[in-house]
Order: sequence, then C-alpha cells, then structure tokens
Amino acid sequence: MPKIPTQTVTRFAPSPSGYLHLGHAHSALFAWRAARAARGRFLLRIEDIDNPRSDPVFIDAILEDLRWLGLDWDGPVRHQSGQLAAYAAALEGLRKLDLLYPCFCSRAEIRAEIAASGRAPHGPSGAVYPSTCRTLSEDVRAAHLAEGKPYGLRLDIAKALASTGPLTWIDRDKGKIQAEPLAHGDVVLARKDIATSYHLAVTLDDADQGVTLVTRGEDLFPMTDIHRLLQALLGLPVPQWHHHGLLSDEHGERLAKRNDALSIRALRRDGKSAAEVRAMAGFPD
Ligand code: GLU
Repeated sequence: MPKIPTQTVTRFAPSPSGYLHLGHAHSALFAWRAARAARGRFLLRIEDIDNPRSDPVFIDAILEDLRWLGLDWDGPVRHQSGQLAAYAAALEGLRKLDLLYPCFCSRAEIRAEIAASGRAPHGPSGAVYPSTCRTLSEDVRAAHLAEGKPYGLRLDIAKALASTGPLTWIDRDKGKIQAEPLAHGDVVLARKDIATSYHLAVTLDDADQGVTLVTRGEDLFPMTDIHRLLQALLGLPVPQWHHHGLLSDEHGERLAKRNDALSIRALRRDGKSAAEVRAMAGFPD
C-alpha cells in the first residue's frame, strides 16, 4: 500500500507574559512559512500555564499583532490553561510507572544543598538538581505529605531512560541527534503552583494537536532531550524539529532579551508597515 504522506503541521506557541517582539515575529513567521510552503497547517497555541506571569491583555495583543503581521492560523487557538486534565492524566500514567517523586525543596534549599556538596554540576537547563528528595526515606516523605508541605513532581531521569533505552531525534538543520536527558538531572514535571510544567505541557500539546514539525529558537534545542524522553515514556508520536537561529542586533545582543523598543506594538506606533517589520524579523517578502 502506498504510504499516505503526512501533512506538515507546525505551531507558534508564545507565552503571554509580554508583548510580541521581533524575536517572536521571527519564530512565528518561521513556523508559518514552513507550514504554508508545505501546504500544511499552522497552529497557534497560547502557553498560559504560568499564572503569575500570564496576562489576558497580552493574549489579545498577541493575536492582534500576528494578524497585523499578516499571519493566519488554522483552527481554533489552543490555550494550555484549558488542558490541565490532560496534563494530570499523563502525570498519573508516569506515577503508575513509578517514575515520579515528590520534591519538597525550595529554590533556596536546592542552592544550599549544591553549595554544601562542593559540586555544582550544570546542565542545559541550569544547575542540576542534586536529587535530594529522590532518596528521602518513606517515613520522612510521608511526614512531609501529612504536614501538607507543598511539593512538585520530578521525573527520575535515570530510571526513565533505563526504561526506554537510548533515544534519538531529527533536527531538520542538524540531522540525527542523540538525546541526552541525563544531563538535565531530575526535571520538574509538575510545579508546586501549577501541577504541570513547560516540558510536560509542550510535549503533550504538540502530540495532541498533531504537530509534525516543531519549530522554535535554538535556545530551546537542549530541551528536546526531555521532550523526546517524555514521548517515549507516554507512547506519543515523534515529530521532527527545526531549531532556528535567534535574531541579534548590531552589537550581537540577542533580541529575545529586549522587549521594549522592538516590540511589534512599538514598531507599529513608529509607523513601520507590516512588510517592513517582517523584513526586520528576517522575512522580506
Ligand atoms: N512558550 C515557549 C516560549 O514562548 C515556546 C515553547 C516551544 O516552542 O517549545 O518560549
């Protein structure tokens, strides 16, 4: 039987914690062009699980700025805040596999533990968690739980990888990549405050929405190690990835760090046309 070609599905997934700026425009146009060039679908997802930082005002502004830039998207906009039940179900699956443990540590306690150990291994997502809560005795764990001490859930990375075996993934730019999830340490899959995390939510939503090509900035390249592992653990389809370069200014400073003068709003106010802003974002017509 001839194989039915899979339609390309890409997405842009901004976090509504500020106005879109040129770096976002680059990312959005990159995903949109990839979909349209392949006669595929382009989805928009609002990653609004980070309650303290997400603001509905920014959601409206993001949609408006994208439309102004000339982008259109297929189907309804997904909001991660509406997917909490799916995240909880996946966590339950991982809990049944005995791959999660509650972590009661505060950031300050983690810092103190690292300082006391005299070692500060750094992974792609920052200081590697010293696994303090993985080895808590059952009694101590039970006491913390009984006391109502707040906790997040961490993935036992070594155990998880042992259960899947070595994993690879395909980056359209860099080719076949060996996933190195161990370097990250035991990542948080459910934060104390939101019962999910970037890693879990992004992986589940990309699978659920049928995304076949994940495009995003190269700053997120190392995170794919974790997402690939989660896909294997949860039996999810494996997309391809294309991590794009980040825009920088004439001093070589990354634009993604600067939200002010280069926000799409400010450029609009300054009288720039959509075509000019698209060109500034690296996509001249
Ligand atoms: N929401 C993330 C961000 O704005 C993007 C996540 C992703 O593309 O994987 O940085």
